[in-house]
Amino acid sequence: MRLLKAENIKKYIPVREGILSLFTKPKKWIRLVDNVTLGINAGEIHALIGENASGKKTLSRILIGLKKPSDGKVFYNNKNIFSISGEEYRRMRRELQIIFGDPFSSLNPHFTVKEIIEEPLKLNDIEYDDRLLRGTLEEVGLTPPEEYLWRKPFQLSGVERQRASLARVLVLNPKFIVADEPVSLLDTPYKEDFLSLMRRINRERGVAFLLTTAYPQYAFQIADRISIMYLGKIVETGRKRIIMENPLHPYTQQLFRVYREPYKITGEIGITDIHPSPEIPDGCRYYPDCPYSMDKCRAVEPGLMEVEEEHHVACYLYE
Ligand code: SF4
Repeated sequence: MRLLKAENIKKYIPVREGILSLFTKPKKWIRLVDNVTLGINAGEIHALIGENASGKKTLSRILIGLKKPSDGKVFYNNKNIFSISGEEYRRMRRELQIIFGDPFSSLNPHFTVKEIIEEPLKLNDIEYDDRLLRGTLEEVGLTPPEEYLWRKPFQLSGVERQRASLARVLVLNPKFIVADEPVSLLDTPYKEDFLSLMRRINRERGVAFLLTTAYPQYAFQIADRISIMYLGKIVETGRKRIIMENPLHPYTQQLFRVYREPYKITGEIGITDIHPSPEIPDGCRYYPDCPYSMDKCRAVEPGLMEVEEEHHVACYLYE
């Protein structure tokens, strides 16, 4: 069952060159997200994999209403979140939450863990008692809770801060959580721990996650479905198992090769961070780097095509 659906989402920002351009219509636009349609099922973990500036962060924020798209709609429980009243959106936002990669900057440094977890409950006028606070800390592995309730963020390790961030959103009993590169700043041994915790909470509570990451291995570890984003577009999407075993888009193949055989990758074919640019080529935006490009690829951009059940790819090789 679809919990959330984004339809034809675009996010364009104008390129301003010089002070005078502030008073004229922009001639160029950076297409951060370019006509993306994406569905999230209730209770699933969906991973959005893409390099820096591929548009995954912008899209994830649009999905929960933190950013407005230039065009397109997002439906949560069949309601367009950008056309409901402010009050209705405020109520809905309890169910649509986000945790960030850098919990140190997202947690109030002056608050204790208790105050950090209480804050969203107070802001939403939700009655609570100590059992809820202690129970949530136990759920995220901050045990015994008495040892953590009175600590401040600087008295926690990196992974403990990330667990506190998760507790802060879980007290609101969300249905969907964006986990924005949640393990990017954690030390290696703790990355797997935190991903396993997300998986357990997903299983036990039935809460859906959108995991954004530049690293396919994190998606392989916990996701049910994955989508690959390149220069503002989803180029391949489907069930994790299918795409892991049979990646079809040349960009997905390259991304996975870099992950699986990093020691074989030379500078010329290693992936690099994408820099958002107004100069996206006509046709398939991957053709300048694609070893299989054909004349047709330069002329018309391919849309997502179904190649097998629950597996879509935007590439003319699979017409
Ligand atoms: S559409 Fe053409 S250029 Fe684009 S990925 Fe497929 S083969 Fe390569």
